[in-house]
Amino acid sequence: MAALTRESCVALDRIDSLARFRERFNLPAGVIYLDGNSLGALGDDIPRRLAITIEREWGEGLIRSWNSAGWIDLPRKVAAKLAPLIGASPLDVAVSDSTSVNLFKLVIAGLRMRPGRRRVLSDASNFPTDLYIAGSAAKLLGAELEILAPEDLLRSLDADTAIVMLTQVDFKTGALHDLARITEAAHTRGALMLWDLSHSAGALPIDLAGADADFAVGCTYKYLNGGPGAPAFVYVAARLHAALESPLAGWMGHARPFDFEPAYAPASGIDRLLCGTPPVLSLAALDAALDLWAQVDLAEVRAKSVALSELFIALVEDRCAGFGLVLASPRRAAERGSQLSFRHAESYAIKQALIARGVIGDFRAPDLLRVGFTPLYLRYADIWDAVEALAGVLFSREWDAPAFRKREIVT
Ligand SMILES: *Cc1c(COP(=O)(O)O)cnc(C)c1O
Repeated sequence: MAALTRESCVALDRIDSLARFRERFNLPAGVIYLDGNSLGALGDDIPRRLAITIEREWGEGLIRSWNSAGWIDLPRKVAAKLAPLIGASPLDVAVSDSTSVNLFKLVIAGLRMRPGRRRVLSDASNFPTDLYIAGSAAKLLGAELEILAPEDLLRSLDADTAIVMLTQVDFKTGALHDLARITEAAHTRGALMLWDLSHSAGALPIDLAGADADFAVGCTYKYLNGGPGAPAFVYVAARLHAALESPLAGWMGHARPFDFEPAYAPASGIDRLLCGTPPVLSLAALDAALDLWAQVDLAEVRAKSVALSELFIALVEDRCAGFGLVLASPRRAAERGSQLSFRHAESYAIKQALIARGVIGDFRAPDLLRVGFTPLYLRYADIWDAVEALAGVLFSREWDAPAFRKREIVT
């Protein structure tokens, strides 16, 4: 990398092809936001869109808006905008519920597609809700979740394995799994592959169809900027639709919800995974957030994400040496998603002291300081300034104050 100065970072910003997207977000003044991997920033057209949905569609249209404002079509419309971002056909994606709930549907559906097989495999560093949900879903069908070390996972595949469930980018370390290779390995043993794309959708190019993946889920409130608690997505390969049975047979997944028939008849394709009434306000925000992505080249996003994270590492090594920060993410950029984690015994207090300086990252127990890179609204100069703040916090021991050690509920 060229000589590291703030001027060289500003120069990189000047030639950055993604720089124009920053003004499409409402970012608070004086804040460097390194947590868009947990909750994406607010798009500038979302407040207006929500005002229209609330005041005009809800306030004036009232129940007529299910038809006249197209509320009933919103889940399908939003799924179609999202599908290209994960390498999927719009017909194979639904937007509904939370990632946790969608995982439940898929684990049950997958076990039913592999009768006689009793094992669901996942890795110990998977996101806890994934493990909790898969464990409880498997138990309902007399199957069992086995939580293995990542390196043992593929070796453990056998003729009793129904589902392999992994998160493509590890939420703690940012380690990136090889989606195509692992999917293929699962298939050679007849198992179904379920990917959680929560930390990869909107962060890097994904090709679910190209990898012939069976199932996927993911959050829309992280890199996709859909807003707090925005509904999640769920993907099922078309070849599995006929056998796809939702354990949550809600009326919105019915072939004819407004016939109000007592007997359940599933919708013909992926829409059978819909369950209850769609959350219109959240969907409207997500719909507006996804408009921006139609203009975004994910290969450019990935390239800038790599450049920002390499810059962050280089600056930490240069300016924070000797303060005990240890990189917990893979050193090779090709093996990482769009985030970095550093181990430090005082990570929590350091994170709080950084927030007091306007640099927002997060903490993951027990000792990780985590920073996420969102190339649509982060500048190279922000990385410079963030590491300056980090060096300042470490050098001055600002973190060593009772106020910064007090744990809040959400870390
Ligand atoms: C953020 C995240 C979730 C969160 O799931 P919710 O149901 O939205 O709470 C699940 N899995 C992974 C891998 C995540 O990163």
